Amino acid sequence: MRNPQRPAKLLLDWYASARRDLPWRRTRDPWRVLVSEVMLQQTRVSAVIPYYERFLARFPTPASLAAAREEELLSLWSGLGYYSRARNLKRAAEALAARGGFPQTAEEWRRLPGIGDYTAAAVASICFLEPCAVLDGNVARVMARLSAEQGDIASPGVRARLKERAQALLDPGHPDEFNQALMELGATLCLPRQPKCLLCPWRGICQAHRDGIAPELPVKARRRPPERRHLRLALIIDQGRLLLRQRSSEERRLAGFWELPAVEDLPSSRTLRPVGRFRHSITHHNFEVEVWHGRLRRAPESCQWHDLDRIDTLPVGAMTRKALALLPPKGTA
Ligand code: SF4
Repeated sequence: MRNPQRPAKLLLDWYASARRDLPWRRTRDPWRVLVSEVMLQQTRVSAVIPYYERFLARFPTPASLAAAREEELLSLWSGLGYYSRARNLKRAAEALAARGGFPQTAEEWRRLPGIGDYTAAAVASICFLEPCAVLDGNVARVMARLSAEQGDIASPGVRARLKERAQALLDPGHPDEFNQALMELGATLCLPRQPKCLLCPWRGICQAHRDGIAPELPVKARRRPPERRHLRLALIIDQGRLLLRQRSSEERRLAGFWELPAVEDLPSSRTLRPVGRFRHSITHHNFEVEVWHGRLRRAPESCQWHDLDRIDTLPVGAMTRKALALLPPKGTA
């Protein structure tokens, strides 16, 4: 690469014509950009859009989120998954509300609770034009392919190297556009399985494309095989109310969320019958879930009744939502 500006220009020219019109690209407001960056981590753009709009309508400023109850926050986040992101965003909102005004540099953003390297660099470059590269999963994949990186993409050493490469390519005059363009390239062309190299503005400088190994990169160390688990959930309804248990604050996952009780945790009952089953994966666990439906005379102390019409206002995880979709139509319960 004789002229380091040239790859950046190729990328920016491509982005100018190929960029998707997304709600968070119509603003430089640090709060709105922060919310979008947090929501987009590990979640598809199409899934984020309705959450983003709803969330900002309810929490238009850090102070509004700082003052909210956690249960309301989690119910608005319900279905988006990775709930620690919501709690971290609230912690950051509390710090922002207390300090007044937004930090401007990535280093200052990183000092806020719950804000990591990626988010700090994204907000500082997009909103305050700080020339710092971002490295999310999409950018890491592009960088690994560009240099035909053979190390494990999850290793800290390799990630540091990839970030240096992104930093070397960054156009310091347009860090906002450059970072967004690079993320867009990873999300729309440099796809994990079938990269669309023929459409790519960087195909002329991409080592993996030249070597014909793009789909094989990046290298990922073998993960442990998924564990299969079997669960039986009870969908108990009585007079328009649903029986739910709340996960304790000590549980690592989904603390404070409401879920269906396990059949085994209810007093023995002959009135339950199976109504369906589905599969659900959480990290390295593959659950085979059976849903049983019926009535119960007495609710166990560990559970509470909730109006079915108000379930949407509670924090409820994706597995419970799938089970609720099996609810028999009204009148047949
Ligand atoms: S040429 Fe292909 S592999 Fe290389 S960056 Fe572009 S899309 Fe990715």
